[in-house]
Amino acid sequence: MGKIIAVANQKGGVGKTTTSINLAACLAENKKKVLAIDMDPQGNLSSGLGIEKSNTEKTIYNLMIGEMTVEEVIHKSVMDNLDVIPSTVNLSAAEIELIGIKDKEFIVKKEVEKIKDHYDYVIIDCPPSLNMLTVNAMTTADSVLVPIQCEYYALEGLSQLIYTVELVKERLNPALEIEGIVFTMYDARTNLSLQVVENVKENLNQTIYQTIIPRNIRLAEAPSYGMPINQYDPRSAGAESYRKLADEVIKHNTDQ
Ligand code: ADP
Ligand code: MG
Repeated sequence: MGKIIAVANQKGGVGKTTTSINLAACLAENKKKVLAIDMDPQGNLSSGLGIEKSNTEKTIYNLMIGEMTVEEVIHKSVMDNLDVIPSTVNLSAAEIELIGIKDKEFIVKKEVEKIKDHYDYVIIDCPPSLNMLTVNAMTTADSVLVPIQCEYYALEGLSQLIYTVELVKERLNPALEIEGIVFTMYDARTNLSLQVVENVKENLNQTIYQTIIPRNIRLAEAPSYGMPINQYDPRSAGAESYRKLADEVIKHNTDQ
């Protein structure tokens, strides 16, 4: 049965999309069947996995407004084993267009339920806000994975995020869990990165992944080629770290 992981943090630029793309790709490399869903109107996950703009008339938006079924919006990616439901900027209108629609928090869940058994993992990349799109991702998900950037304000906003997960769990999705925290953009040359990791470990009573994603320029370059890191530069430090994270996620989910 497919495990559904939402990658969320309402802060922008913390590595949600980079983590979604490369975790999904490394799970697929590991022979898992994976579906990546882009819930951010910016569409960076879609382009980062090689979905052409011309190929995006069939998106999560069309699914959310009830125009298309889930099967119709699934696209093949640049990798075997990895499918994508893309998004485009029109997704930003969905929140308004769905005002007053009954059960709008469950639209994505209802559709994804129909196909989740075709996949081992479904990874959902959330937008940088705690809005209706993020709530849809959290009602669909079994767990939430939280990337934290190793910088001074890392902890800011985290209590709000955890509170949101608790609210969704209480009211909409009793099975929802926090999968864990992943540190991103770690810079071994600075004391700050290390201090942030220590500080979060001390102050946050959450599962923390042992794998720490380093700051690696190859990770920032890969999306402009429409490739995940394990295809763009398979031997880079970024690729190695996301492979380790995928191994940890698999282990975590088989131990349970
Ligand atoms: P979010 O989805 O949370 O807004 P992104 O994944 O888009 O964050 O990352 C923000 C920016 O930082 C992007 O330009 C991305 O390429 C870059 N980036 C993300 N992770 C790394 C990393 N580990 N090393 C170097 N650059 C990174
Ligand atoms: Mg993003």
